[in-house]
Amino acid sequence: MSDAKMPVEPFRIKVVEPIRRTSRRERAAVLKRSGFNVFNIPADKIFIDLLTDSGTSAMSDNQWAGIMLGDESYAGARNYFHFEEAVRSIFGFAHVIPTHQGRAAERILFEAVVKKGDPVPNNIHFDTTRANVEVRGGVPVDLAVEEAYDPRAELPFKGNMDVKKLDRFIRRTGPKKIPLVMMTVTNNSGGGQPASLQNIRQVSEVCRSHGVPFFFDACRFAENAYFIREREKGCAGKTVLEIAREMFACADGATMSAKKDALVNIGGFITLADDDLARCLKNLLIISEGFPTYGGLAGRDLEAMARGLQEVLDENYLEHRVGQVAYLGALLEKSGIPIYKPVGGHAVYILADEFLPHIPRHQYPGWALTVALYREAGIRAVEIGGVMFAKDKSGRGKTAFPKLELVRLSIPRRVYTVSHLNYVAEALAELYRDRDKVRGLRIVEQSPHLRHFTVRMEEI
Ligand SMILES: *Cc1c(COP(=O)(O)O)cnc(C)c1O
Repeated sequence: MSDAKMPVEPFRIKVVEPIRRTSRRERAAVLKRSGFNVFNIPADKIFIDLLTDSGTSAMSDNQWAGIMLGDESYAGARNYFHFEEAVRSIFGFAHVIPTHQGRAAERILFEAVVKKGDPVPNNIHFDTTRANVEVRGGVPVDLAVEEAYDPRAELPFKGNMDVKKLDRFIRRTGPKKIPLVMMTVTNNSGGGQPASLQNIRQVSEVCRSHGVPFFFDACRFAENAYFIREREKGCAGKTVLEIAREMFACADGATMSAKKDALVNIGGFITLADDDLARCLKNLLIISEGFPTYGGLAGRDLEAMARGLQEVLDENYLEHRVGQVAYLGALLEKSGIPIYKPVGGHAVYILADEFLPHIPRHQYPGWALTVALYREAGIRAVEIGGVMFAKDKSGRGKTAFPKLELVRLSIPRRVYTVSHLNYVAEALAELYRDRDKVRGLRIVEQSPHLRHFTVRMEEI
């Protein structure tokens, strides 16, 4: 599965954006000013930015041309109809409601259907869906297969839902109490792993048999469909578009952040079959996002999304996209660096506690790795571990650390070349050789929620 074929870029470069290398001394000073938190570093002090793949894609000449054709009419802009057609041709649902990004789609959907105490199952909730369920008084429930939490289980579909658990959960809770079941593809919070078509069909059957609506969190649907074509029995002869259509035919609707697989810098949407629910969602949309044919976006943004949704299904694009992530993963493995396996669709995840075994969990090895990687090479990655998720549940200083201590290297779409990836791999290999010099950190200042964004640290 770890295919190290060199991913030759299926595009050539027409516009360039300079990135600047800084000296180690400059970066050490930047780190100090930033409280040893890479979120606080100005982006122009970063050489290679692997913080996220969200909203960081490079648009194509075709998308930029579409931007010039933006119709900025308040209502009924022509770009809305292009966008509606693009979404319908892939997702197949009657209603298409634009929003300014993914979490706005989630907020509006959950505001309409989630009541206090209602559980919402998912394979693993992404942070924003979790927060939007909780803010309604609902209870997010993760029902991913057990292997999703095992970084060494080399299985093709670790994004799958545990269907038996789901069925049992619905019977035990009572289907009337469950407003909907969601499935995140690919599973961002579980290593960017795909779900299989077979699993999606089984989840759909369980939901239909109980009369519970089934929605996708579809941010990376094209990457998921590509993995299905590559890995699932009987799917090799299908196009990615055909597979995507089969996935969505199993569901009642979807939310999507267009900042991922619609290849744009801002945007999102909800699409669904149900007329009554769609009417209700549009009423909520008008209050915060705007009229239902623009939903918080400009006409030009809608055009860029319409074109991005078509481009993302190009199989040359997807082969390169998924190939870049696999390539970086394979280079790291070759240097002996421990990573989550198999490599997912949008990022490589380093097992930071194994990379830095001399740093105990309470000195945050994942965070230490992001600090060292920036200082040595100007690369920005993100910790997904103790700083982000550790909780002092007892309130008596006994901290519960998350199972996995990860550092995520997300690859922006169509942005970096093979030589950039080589640079990242070499920097990490060097850091790995000198790993015993990396120091742990302690927290000096933190906020009560989502502390990783603002936390200030010092090195021990
Ligand atoms: C990014 C993301 C979201 C939220 O989308 P935003 O556009 O950032 O609001 C929701 N779900 C998943 C799986 C995501 O990756």
